[in-house]
Amino acid sequence: MSWIQQNRELYNEECSAIRQRLPDVEINTDSGLLVAKGPFPIFKEGVIIRRYILALVFPKNYPEWVPTVFMLEPHVKYIPDRHIFNNGGACLCLPHEVMQHLPNGIRFADFLDRLLAPWLIGQASYDKHGKWPLPARAHNREGILEGFSDLLDIKEPEVVERYARLLVRKNPAKGHEPCPCGSELKLRDCHKDLYYRCRDKIPSRVQEMYRKWF
Ligand SMILES: [Zn+2]
Repeated sequence: MSWIQQNRELYNEECSAIRQRLPDVEINTDSGLLVAKGPFPIFKEGVIIRRYILALVFPKNYPEWVPTVFMLEPHVKYIPDRHIFNNGGACLCLPHEVMQHLPNGIRFADFLDRLLAPWLIGQASYDKHGKWPLPARAHNREGILEGFSDLLDIKEPEVVERYARLLVRKNPAKGHEPCPCGSELKLRDCHKDLYYRCRDKIPSRVQEMYRKWF
């Protein structure tokens, strides 16, 4: 059963948040999922400078996970430089960084302001200047490694890579395994705390998403 039936109060709150912030967007639940589709405005100094037609699909397990955003503008190409996957889905941030952007949990208004709005500004900038404006992560494996480098606060690529394998591995590293830092000590005698602290920050569903890259 989806959150729409299970959590009626949240459903009503999120619907009114959508209506309040995006009066031209239509809400429907025909597919069993909450879909918000229509023009999403970009504001500059309180004035709408541009709109993009998007569809937001709220997952069945909302608010455990964020809505998927689809770009529906015919002129927009689905390319990595625009942070759009080839199915039209938006790449808003690395999955393990979602909770860093939304520390108070996943709610529509925060999602709109902290994840979707910056991406939309990127789209507008791409249309105007042909490039993405903000510092942005690389894609796929490289982007995940950049994210892990920040998470671990380690710069050396080969060390980050060794950590990455253990961070996304199905079974967490055991204390007797060699520490990924390269010290030749056992994990339990070396960077055990760093390793487990970082692993705890990556939800298991995200570890699973990343596993194919490592
Ligand atoms: Zn170590």
